[in-house]
Amino acid sequence: MRKKNSLIIMLVLATALFSCQNQGKQSTTDMGNPFFTEYNTPFQVPPFDLIKLEHFMPAIDEGILQQEAEIKAIIENTEEPTFENTILALDNSGELLTKVNNVFGPLNSAATNDEMQAIAREMSPKMTRHRDNINLNPVLFQRIKAVYEKRNDLGLDAQQLRLVEKYYQDFERNGANLSAEDQAKLRAINEQLSSLQLKFSENVLAETNRNFRLVIDNEADLKGLPADVIARAADQGKKDNMEGKWVFTLDKPSMLPFLQLAENRELREKLYKGYWMRGDNDNDFDNKEIIKQLVKLRDEKGKLMGFNNFAEYVIDVNMAKTPDAVYDFLSRLFTPAMKMAKADRDAMQKIINAEGGNFKLAPHDWWYYSEKLRKQKFDLDENEIKPYFSLENSLNGMFYVAEKLWGIKFIQRDDIPVYHEEATAFEVTEADGSHIGVFFVDFHPRDGKRPGAWCTSFRRAGYRDGQRIYPLSTIVMNFTRPAGDTPALLSFDEVSTMFHEFGHALHGLFTDEPYRRTSGSVPRDFVELPSQIMEHWAAEPEVLKVYARHYQTGQPIPDELIAKLEAAGTFDQGFITGEFVAAALLDMDYHTTTNPVIADVREFENQSMNKWGLIPEILPRYRSTYFSHTFTGGYTAGYYVYYWAGVLDADAFQAFKETGDIFNQDVAARFRELLSRSGSDEGMNVYRKFRGKDPETTSFLKNKGLL
Ligand SMILES: [Zn+2]
Repeated sequence: MRKKNSLIIMLVLATALFSCQNQGKQSTTDMGNPFFTEYNTPFQVPPFDLIKLEHFMPAIDEGILQQEAEIKAIIENTEEPTFENTILALDNSGELLTKVNNVFGPLNSAATNDEMQAIAREMSPKMTRHRDNINLNPVLFQRIKAVYEKRNDLGLDAQQLRLVEKYYQDFERNGANLSAEDQAKLRAINEQLSSLQLKFSENVLAETNRNFRLVIDNEADLKGLPADVIARAADQGKKDNMEGKWVFTLDKPSMLPFLQLAENRELREKLYKGYWMRGDNDNDFDNKEIIKQLVKLRDEKGKLMGFNNFAEYVIDVNMAKTPDAVYDFLSRLFTPAMKMAKADRDAMQKIINAEGGNFKLAPHDWWYYSEKLRKQKFDLDENEIKPYFSLENSLNGMFYVAEKLWGIKFIQRDDIPVYHEEATAFEVTEADGSHIGVFFVDFHPRDGKRPGAWCTSFRRAGYRDGQRIYPLSTIVMNFTRPAGDTPALLSFDEVSTMFHEFGHALHGLFTDEPYRRTSGSVPRDFVELPSQIMEHWAAEPEVLKVYARHYQTGQPIPDELIAKLEAAGTFDQGFITGEFVAAALLDMDYHTTTNPVIADVREFENQSMNKWGLIPEILPRYRSTYFSHTFTGGYTAGYYVYYWAGVLDADAFQAFKETGDIFNQDVAARFRELLSRSGSDEGMNVYRKFRGKDPETTSFLKNKGLL
């Protein structure tokens, strides 16, 4: 479950932020601000060394003014609305703003500081107001609607037609078609939703970080824990002014090792209970009342927008299209997952009984006994694996896969400006040497870089007056640094992460579509297909034998370790899939309910989970009161998208496997076509064009060991 891509963000901002070229307008006071002139660098990469913090705000302000003038020109045009004077003019507007945001956004994530964050705080409300001024402009909407209504008589091609429909849909989904009275209602609902969602997330933060500690002062209670875990708990004790004690928190890196390994069952229960009771403690941070209000308001909003419920409104623009399709999908996963989970539960109960434990396996026991089960079945030692995955070998493996698939090359270029000395730039070319774009990598943690891994771009691919605009993609990670003579050695999870982000980057590099709003713009449940599919090549034995070589001896990874890696991929999937799907179902149930006045949140959750048949030894991955994905707005009626895309990537990779050649050139060409034209049609149509049929869940289930 990687939360690390900019494509989602791009998608959300797509109505206002477009890829950029340069603009000559400037006043004398702006002289020297690189945003106001053409970038005079290789491939017009932003001149990072010349861009200073004081350049951002003036360029944002000027960008807003320019786009306001462009919008004014559209709505004051006395001619009848046409595709060119309205839709295309809107699509082409805001270049300077995009140009600045394209630099500011990625830098604020990968190389930020206090001053930059202060600029972000100043910028954010300005940008929101500016976007609202465009998205809620009634005159602009009337012109868009006029074009939309006669779209089939205008002789537009398929891409132009789609552009008209997308703009119309964006405005409609923002409420532009509602009566003045209903628009006022919608604005009131939106305001309440945003403050409730904010409060929900503040409560979860407090309940996770502040309100609970497992404090241990008796060393015997640490039995079973490895030294590094104990040392970190001692550090946490110091941090919390409890020197000499061991403190565990509800953060997963602190909690999970304890649940897995600590022998004291009572303390495991205490810690896990602290976790699953978050937001449900009837204190000042309780989220139950907030959930009731959110569910009711969202239901009102869905109905106001002409749907039966909120989930219908959300999913209408996704690949799945309807809540029914999501339910159908989730239940097909849940049944085999529960079957496997029950078998694992019984195996764990046997261990308990054999050890003379006189109790029934409980939710807080799952990690501890599944760890024992794992050791029984196979033992994967990370330290045995890592020497085969040096950073350099893994990076070369990634480039090897891309070259085998599409003939493309990555050439390191030291003359291309980089935004930080630790970032590296590569020119990406076709086999014949023609330019595709620039690809940056930035591997290690440092101050000013947020945690996690992600992909962004300093410029999106596009066209301007028929001229190709070349993309600049970057992937950012937080991998362990080299130590002494030892190069950076990655865990296999980190290798997968790198291939994953690389997939997002390739999507950006290959995108080749004429209009900004639709270019590379894919539904939320499609976003992770390009990324997750790359993880399959990373794990293929045939590919591992090429790049996974011991950093000292150069020997390829032994078959025995490959087999262990494969086994690790399917271990405990009954639990992993089960808790995930349970949460996704809970999310759907809240947003499709025919009775949105929820009397009791606990009761609602219990009934939902019982109805679906979640076994009592497993809780949903997120209980309602800390289900931030759904209740802070980011993944409302959308937690399912991770697995939906999982089905797509497994099925798409199967298209290669079926040919007996994971580098099959015909399939590779079709997949590149999918990546290049991903925004050209509805997601399912784009997929079918690649695959020749609907995606099937079989490969996904098989990979998880659930078939
Ligand atoms: Zn991703």
